[in-house]
Amino acid sequence: MSVTNAKIIDRIYPLPVQRLLRISMVLAFVVFIVEMALIYSEPSLGLRLLWFATIPLAPMILLVAPNAWVSICPISTVQTFSHRFGQNPHRRLSPRITAKLQAFGWVLMIAGIPTRHLFFNSVGWATFWTALAILAVVLAAGLLFRSLSGWCVGACPIRPIEVLYGQFALDKNRPEKCTDCSACIPSCQRLVPENSHSELHRSSLTANIAMGFPGFVAAYFLLDLLNVCDIEHAFFAGTGAQGSDLLRLAGAVYGWMAAGFVVSWAAFFVLRRRLKERTLFRAIALSAFTAYYLGVAPEIREAWSLPFWSIPAMLIPPAVAMAWALWPSKLTDRTSRTPA
Ligand code: SF4
Repeated sequence: MSVTNAKIIDRIYPLPVQRLLRISMVLAFVVFIVEMALIYSEPSLGLRLLWFATIPLAPMILLVAPNAWVSICPISTVQTFSHRFGQNPHRRLSPRITAKLQAFGWVLMIAGIPTRHLFFNSVGWATFWTALAILAVVLAAGLLFRSLSGWCVGACPIRPIEVLYGQFALDKNRPEKCTDCSACIPSCQRLVPENSHSELHRSSLTANIAMGFPGFVAAYFLLDLLNVCDIEHAFFAGTGAQGSDLLRLAGAVYGWMAAGFVVSWAAFFVLRRRLKERTLFRAIALSAFTAYYLGVAPEIREAWSLPFWSIPAMLIPPAVAMAWALWPSKLTDRTSRTPA
């Protein structure tokens, strides 16, 4: 494509905030390296830190400030390594390829989440080497394509969650990594995060996946709570039973999560006839957010052997984040500024 750098002057973080985000980015990267080293050498501790301390912070940040998340995400930091050293390639992906990569990211998310139960929550080497492989892909994307295209605003399987939760974005600035926007992709959700739902209206594939997502998340945690999948329980208890009868477990995990997806899809399919599209996708995002924290809080308690009262205590921050995002004046402000 023949587009040169686009000089966009609005929605830039003030300089002190940019500095703060850069410091946070370095800290997040150091935490990521330490966690990866622990996952390799002390998987029991490293995996707990990653899945049951660090990752549960992400949905809250994505709900109120998705572009602040992009500013500090260690994976996107790796994608921008070469750019920070003056090597931002000129190659831009076409709108068609970008749309295909983004659709692939949605499929990757749905196919990948169940594997957490089977391997990634409890098998250190699987998580370590998969993370390394992803970093290699991301580094290559940064060397080949402009700015965040290819991975961060392309095939990344976390991006769909940014799209869903980003509808409520209170922080509307571009990521620190995009202060000088290079127009790396068309229709970029980072420029107007609160309009990220437009992707859901554009593509029936992503709309349908989004409709099944809340039930899919709920089923993921029900597998644990109802003891259908006991891999994590064995891992937390240190009895090392993971890997036993993996085929049966894979069938149970994918079967339950597919059933949760279908129930959720059917419920939102019925609601779709009664609600405005924007209201529907907001309801989907809030349902998934609620299911996530109701499910993850008992897992965190078990992972760290915390007392029972820690569960309601852990639900306070996500409840505050949700109330903040839904505060009537902020919601009205966003609605009045965004096209239907
Ligand atoms: S990701 Fe979006 S905001 Fe960032 S450089 Fe690319 S087009 Fe600009």
